[in-house]
Amino acid sequence: MDCTKFVDINGRNFGIRLIRAKLSNAYAKVDGNCIIIKIPHGMDTATAGKTADLLYNRIVKALQKNPGRYLETKLEFRDGQTTLACGREFLINIEHKKAKSGSVKVSGNSLMIKVPHDMEGHAEREVVSRLAIKGISNAVLPLVNARITTLNNAYFDSVLRGTRINNSKRVWGSCSPENVITLNFKLLYSPPDVMDYVIVHELCHTKIRSHSKRFWKAVADVIPDYKEKKKWLRESSYLIKS
Ligand SMILES: [Zn+2]
Repeated sequence: MDCTKFVDINGRNFGIRLIRAKLSNAYAKVDGNCIIIKIPHGMDTATAGKTADLLYNRIVKALQKNPGRYLETKLEFRDGQTTLACGREFLINIEHKKAKSGSVKVSGNSLMIKVPHDMEGHAEREVVSRLAIKGISNAVLPLVNARITTLNNAYFDSVLRGTRINNSKRVWGSCSPENVITLNFKLLYSPPDVMDYVIVHELCHTKIRSHSKRFWKAVADVIPDYKEKKKWLRESSYLIKS
């Protein structure tokens, strides 16, 4: 990756890359040893400079505070490894098979992942990661749904149209106009009270769509210390905004 500037953080050398891209919001992320700052095409030079500085300072501060943490945001799955998602443990089993595409199935506590036999290296890791995320998401979806139902029945009583788990790099959760709630896969690895906060946040959106004062008051009525949960989310990932 072609970085033009470098910064030393706790003895580790990071390159910095500023990219103009077709997107609506600016954001920064850590990718390997590179801090990537992406700024929308349309933003004027002065605002872009200020935004880049702000994002850069925020990410450096977070890395200084906890240099190892961001590594957890890139979930990798290896053969023989166990992974604890949403309180449920899975043993990862990876096999190669003669086929064009991979597959995944959960059998008891095992997550059986099959990848095409001619696949290796980066391509293999990508397929394994995608299949693991799919398999784990499907397996824990009933647990997640049960939690959503409990919180909805206790505080909201909204009509919900389903739950999805995705691997968004941008948001922890969302609620569609039809009340489909989407949660980030990485939440399955967060403390339960943090996941509860995101669920309550999205459930509040079934009543109030905007992030108005009234909205945050409604969140606080259910989770008085919600700011602590937001802080956890902010500090735990530079890929995702809370
Ligand atoms: Zn929201």
